[in-house]
Amino acid sequence: MSVFRNYKKEIMGAAHNERIRTALSRAVKSYRANVDSALKAFPHTVKLAEEVREIKERAISEMERLTARACEAIESNKGKAYIARTAEEALKVISDLVGTGKVVVKGKSMTGEEIGLREHLEEWGNEVYETDLGEFIIQKLGSRPMHILSPAVHVPREDVARLFSEMTGQELPPDDIEALVATARQLLREKYFLADVGMSGANVVAAETGSLFLIENEGNIRLATGAPPVHIALVGMEKLVPTFSDACKVAEVTWRYAGYTMPKYLSVVSGPSATGDIEKVITYGAHGPREFHAIFLDAGRTELAKHPVLRQALYCLRCGGCLYECPVFAVTAGHFGDKYFAGNGAVWSAMITGNREKAAALAYTCLTCARCRIRCPVGIDTPEMMVELKRLMVEGAAHE
Ligand code: SF4
Repeated sequence: MSVFRNYKKEIMGAAHNERIRTALSRAVKSYRANVDSALKAFPHTVKLAEEVREIKERAISEMERLTARACEAIESNKGKAYIARTAEEALKVISDLVGTGKVVVKGKSMTGEEIGLREHLEEWGNEVYETDLGEFIIQKLGSRPMHILSPAVHVPREDVARLFSEMTGQELPPDDIEALVATARQLLREKYFLADVGMSGANVVAAETGSLFLIENEGNIRLATGAPPVHIALVGMEKLVPTFSDACKVAEVTWRYAGYTMPKYLSVVSGPSATGDIEKVITYGAHGPREFHAIFLDAGRTELAKHPVLRQALYCLRCGGCLYECPVFAVTAGHFGDKYFAGNGAVWSAMITGNREKAAALAYTCLTCARCRIRCPVGIDTPEMMVELKRLMVEGAAHE
């Protein structure tokens, strides 16, 4: 019951927070303009999204097989692959690989957030740097991500300027966003080259080649996965698709609906760096990492895939579009969520992170207005999932 009480207090507080509203209305306005112009410039994306929905439907039905295939391919590329059935298993594999007293640079990862990866590595005695600018801001503010793509979407520029001024001891004006970005660059630059380990997630994985696709604009993922000697990737099993060409289609649709005509960087990682330039002797650890580890996380995904309605939650590309269209999210940001947000997040809370009370609170906050379904590139029917989730919850409660 206290979960409900606290949640109600939190969400009402957020709804009356002028700063959240200001930050969100700025973000929603630019998101809509960006996605509209990206789709106008590349109108074939709408048709491609239909194909991607079919690819995801099929891939979710054969997640186990695709994961085994990807593991084989990564091993044959001289990387190491692991399947973690639970969050604890994933954390154990990662702790064993990283050890203690290390410097870790991390790209943004919802799956990492799901299992509390940064906190775990810190508790384990490591120095961890979030390198995505938004994640860096919220790490330093001691806050939590409030959007799957723009974790600091709720933080207005005035707060960023105050934070960076404190960190650098220089007065930084809030209206000089360029200077704020340059400050983050300066604070993080050397960390990539000092780091023992770089960590990332993946937007999509091609099982046949064991290739992880990483979409970004900042360039932090390139550095975090390229400069340190070891790269560890944590990936949810729902990110697997059969072929390289399928993965290209998923990636293209993801960035268009995230509001980009083309992202600044698209990295494809299939194993550790290698060279054969001296007498054709293949040697690992050229300019990039000499070790590459990919951990595929189940943690309830294979179970969720069996549910005829709720399995749609696994089709999500994490483009973030639905959140910008959600009328509740527009005034509350990630307070309408837990590790994952809004209606889709309710399913992830119930079935993946196991926070059922929070899931119930989220499901009953959702207005089932269906604006998210209209925006969603893969047509996820969140109102339908909410009706089903509530039915399951009521049934579950009746049997308790
Ligand atoms: S549910 Fe659809 S719109 Fe929302 S993040 Fe996922 S793919 Fe994008």
